[in-house]
Amino acid sequence: MKKDNYIWLSPPDMDGKELSYIEEAFTTNWLTTSGNNINAFETEMQTFLNTKKEVVMLNSGTSAIHLALIQLGVKEGDEVLCQSLTFVGSVNPILYQKANPIFIDSEPETYNLCPKLLEEAIIDRLHKGKQPKAIIVVHLYGVPAKMDHIITISKKYNIPIIEDAAEALGATYKKQHCGTLTDFGIFSFNGNKIITTTSGGALICNNKKLKAQAVKLATQSKENEQFYQHKQIGYNYRISNVLAGIGRGQLKSLNAKLLALKANHLFYKQLFASSVNIELVSKYNPNIQPNYWLNYIRVRKESKRTNFEILKHLEARGIQARPIWKPMHLQPLFKNNKFYGNHVAEDLYQNGLCLPSGSNLTLSDKKRIKEALHLFL
Ligand SMILES: *Cc1c(COP(=O)(O)O)cnc(C)c1O
Repeated sequence: MKKDNYIWLSPPDMDGKELSYIEEAFTTNWLTTSGNNINAFETEMQTFLNTKKEVVMLNSGTSAIHLALIQLGVKEGDEVLCQSLTFVGSVNPILYQKANPIFIDSEPETYNLCPKLLEEAIIDRLHKGKQPKAIIVVHLYGVPAKMDHIITISKKYNIPIIEDAAEALGATYKKQHCGTLTDFGIFSFNGNKIITTTSGGALICNNKKLKAQAVKLATQSKENEQFYQHKQIGYNYRISNVLAGIGRGQLKSLNAKLLALKANHLFYKQLFASSVNIELVSKYNPNIQPNYWLNYIRVRKESKRTNFEILKHLEARGIQARPIWKPMHLQPLFKNNKFYGNHVAEDLYQNGLCLPSGSNLTLSDKKRIKEALHLFL
């Protein structure tokens, strides 16, 4: 259901099944942060992820990262190691806890956390008398990070991992779902993600006790009493039963959406196959199965056109393209934070570009994109 001729980067893709669950919430009058849709959305997500881990539905992916940090005991002054190439939502929760993000560069295969630099950073922090409290790894653009190596390092130095799988629902590493590989995982159901509840997120944790703790934190930390009793700080982070209904409907077509994203990727792969100036980032080792949430290109140095020129050219033709996330270590907000690395993330930011990749991209959209890009190929 597309409303106009503009080709969006990653627009919501609703197919109507969502409405029956919203209606159920209305007819049963469960219009708050508890109800059948929330419980069912959690169970159905467990089934999709093929996991025994627990799922906690929340109002955003950012809230999920915040709760994971709290559950790991991250406090004021603590250090958290974090992939620099990401959306700021991965990092802001570290600041909510008044902790310090330490940024790590990417490696050039997946553009995610570089295991080698991660270990170098840990050794250096330990030398300086600091024991990092957590590692945040991001499966950026739906491409799984090099988890074997990262998990080995996490175990060696006893530093737990939070997997930011906000963009990676349906992506797998060694056939296991991203978001279920480590201590905590998170997903986002924001409007631009592969499935959306308009705004929402999920926390994946290891057991029922952690889930109960997360739900309590997300509902103002109300004690289990007849009256309103509170012993610790709490948040208003639970998802609404109406929005969970949208998520249940979206989940029904997730497999179809994943197929559509794969088809988009093949389209771009063919389009750029013989281009000397532009490379579609697409070569991964067999452990890595992306969900192809966004396709992105790297404009080679030899090219006479820059990524921003291509962006403007597409924009003038009603086609949305977007820059790569600007690395956190280059952000004014983090000018005083330590960075371990070189120029891998920075180089991709300087030369990369994200192209329209929605699961509702039509054949005629693809034709228009192909024609618009012709000039650069
Ligand atoms: C979208 C996103 C988030 C934040 O999710 P919200 O649901 O918008 O709070 C975090 N990390 C990454 C990598 C994201 O893309």
